[in-house]
Amino acid sequence: MDIYSRLGLRPVVNVSGTMTSLGASIVAAPVIEAMAAILPQFVEIDDLQRKASAVIAQACGSESGYITASCSAAITLGIAATMTGDDPGLIERLPDTTGLRNEVVVQTGHLVNYGAPVDQAIRLAGARVVPVGAATEAHGYQLSAAINERTTAALYVVSHHTVQFGLIHLEEFIASAHAKSVPVIVDAASEYDLKRFIAAGADLVLYSAHKFLGGPTAGIVAGKKTLVRAAYFQNGGIGRGMKVGKEGIAGAIAALEQWQQRDHAAVRARERGYLKLWHEALNGRPGVRAEIDADPTGNPLDRLKLSIDPREARISAWDLADALANPPAGSVPVIVRDHEAELNFFFVDPCNLHPDQEQIVLQRLLAELERAQHAPQPLVTPFFQRDARRVAGRRNWPD
Ligand SMILES: *Cc1c(COP(=O)(O)O)cnc(C)c1O
Repeated sequence: MDIYSRLGLRPVVNVSGTMTSLGASIVAAPVIEAMAAILPQFVEIDDLQRKASAVIAQACGSESGYITASCSAAITLGIAATMTGDDPGLIERLPDTTGLRNEVVVQTGHLVNYGAPVDQAIRLAGARVVPVGAATEAHGYQLSAAINERTTAALYVVSHHTVQFGLIHLEEFIASAHAKSVPVIVDAASEYDLKRFIAAGADLVLYSAHKFLGGPTAGIVAGKKTLVRAAYFQNGGIGRGMKVGKEGIAGAIAALEQWQQRDHAAVRARERGYLKLWHEALNGRPGVRAEIDADPTGNPLDRLKLSIDPREARISAWDLADALANPPAGSVPVIVRDHEAELNFFFVDPCNLHPDQEQIVLQRLLAELERAQHAPQPLVTPFFQRDARRVAGRRNWPD
């Protein structure tokens, strides 16, 4: 019996991306093997994390590293590390930061929500967030002016969620912070490039193991040895509630190893095949424009951007996304990448598909577009109602 039937769940097809709410990513077979192998055994966790440090150092070009529960935990623990160093007394005192440097500068356009707010991950350590610049505009002089003798760290977020223009670029951000001896932490949760940020001079770089790496739920911390050590020691303090187990550590190590051996060109070619299939079948249908769109943060990944003209398609982009996610009985839900659906487009992400699911995606899209053409009324829900419906839809969980 498969896991869906055993748990009474409906299967879903994920063309949304690596979303926590959908179970993140497809965990690679060698990773599953490593996790299964370590689960029944005892290990000395310091030694397992020492091994992780060596693997991370090699993969990221950093001095050292360790595995934590998630990238979100890594933000909190990395910030904590800058405040306490390796002092166990201070580590146990957090989140009370009386007398410590406790301000974290971060660009306003980086204060996004990845499922929870970035600023909360900072505040959780007991630190205070000092926003720099405006949402769509920040300058080096504003960063310099925001740094003072209470500044403990500068956080830089790399994500499709952040504002992609008008902000301070990484190199200038690092140079300004370092000019005032402030360590820079880069949240690179979803980035493919494991070396770029360390090479640019970041003191700590944080990744999710369960996103593109196809690992278990875990966070990867890479960086300067003294800071990595101080972050690791937070496990004796606020990090305890963000514990990663032996299976998460062994799985993340295996994920880093298999990532370096993966045939990335073959994966890209397969994804391009899906995009071509979808593009050819969908572009030019009534009210539908399909384009192949590069990843906004420069990951080697393209997505299909489907722009929907509701007058001709007779359905809005968000109603189409909702129809795909809530199909008639007997059809599989298809979850698209619809953060920007309010602007009349959504993306179809090819990177989390099992074989043949590309056909399901296409058939479902064609069926819903066809249904809209023949419906008695166009389906264009006012956008604010859609948001209200989503919020209301979860309010009574678990009912
Ligand atoms: C996903 C994400 C996170 C959180 O990562 P988890 O490992 O799921 O906690 C943090 N920052 C950014 C930019 C993300 O995309």
